[in-house]
Amino acid sequence: ICLSRVLHPPSACRSRRAMGSVSIPPPASLLRPLETPQRLLSGPGPSNVPPRVLAAAARQIIGHMHGEMLEIMDDIKKGIQYAFQTQNNMTLAMSGPGHVAMECAIFNTVESGESVLVAVNGIWGERAAEIALVEHKPVIFFLTHGESSSGVVHPLDGIGDLCHSHNCLFLLDAVASLGGSPILMDKQGIDILYTGSQKVLNSPPGTAPISFSERACKKMFHRKTKPLSYFLDMGWLANYWGCDGKPTRTYHHTGPISGFFTLRESLAILAEMGLENSWNRHKEVAEHLHKGLESMGFKLFVQEKHVRLPTVTTITVPPGYDWREITVYAMKHHNVEISGGLGPSSGMVLRVGLMGYNSNKANADKVLEALREALKHCHKSKV
Ligand code: PMP
Repeated sequence: ICLSRVLHPPSACRSRRAMGSVSIPPPASLLRPLETPQRLLSGPGPSNVPPRVLAAAARQIIGHMHGEMLEIMDDIKKGIQYAFQTQNNMTLAMSGPGHVAMECAIFNTVESGESVLVAVNGIWGERAAEIALVEHKPVIFFLTHGESSSGVVHPLDGIGDLCHSHNCLFLLDAVASLGGSPILMDKQGIDILYTGSQKVLNSPPGTAPISFSERACKKMFHRKTKPLSYFLDMGWLANYWGCDGKPTRTYHHTGPISGFFTLRESLAILAEMGLENSWNRHKEVAEHLHKGLESMGFKLFVQEKHVRLPTVTTITVPPGYDWREITVYAMKHHNVEISGGLGPSSGMVLRVGLMGYNSNKANADKVLEALREALKHCHKSKV
């Protein structure tokens, strides 16, 4: 007896019988092989991933709490301590992009009713101000070191001391600059520092190194209220990364295992190359690019040379040209990525990023060639 015939009319019974079969077919696009183009990722990030790091991503994964994994996480921690130039024990990689580190930094150290003083010099400062929208006396000074939307790099000396004399923590966003421009976390009195995996480090996006000073830990672990986010709670994350001195690690979330493999390799490459060599290479390549741009008649958006970010260059959109047409041309005809502006700089600049593995003169020349051809072929209106 079909019970539903008693309870429902025959049509309902027919539809019950059909419930075992799917009505939505597999998408045709997924039945075709994955295709991805080969491009020079010379925008503000992500950057191209070198073969050694790609190979790490292709390895079979292991369990996220297996002993070997914990050793790899320890290697990552040491690699970040080197890249940040810090001895902070509270050093780890967030599972997520730069935004996750940004929110982790702010959510863990700021309580309701406290405030953050943000240096806004582009979109990243604007976003931090939005996340930390609170009043009263600031407990944190937030600065973007390499502002990728404007192409400005901030001098750092003296800021930490100034913050500390006002009982304020110094937080530095170095997503777009770390590894490409000098940062010395301990010496410069930086209390919270984070970066992303996908820029100078040349890993795929999805992990974000972060470190907290003793002073920041004191503030963060003596808060009166729980952090707003469970996922970003540094109490849990400190344990996951073995930074809390407890003998056992407890499951908090499943970390991006392949992402940790790649981050380890990226940090190993940086350690082998040496930070100073990496800083010098970025400076040289950026100067080569800047010279080439100026000789073609382009104007750099940041006029003072000493505050030009060596990783991401902002170029004033040449008068009479549509920035979008230039970026589309470079991509279509040269497989070269050039970006437009972002936030306050949108419509005003073109952005070129040459970071880590991508930072060499041959790539700078490819970008220059693509721009030279774009100026010839894109429409120029009378100005
Ligand atoms: N801060 C800065 C300075 C950045 O350039 C970026 C990314 N362009 C971010 C934060 C955010 O990083 P993500 O896109 O990895 O979340």
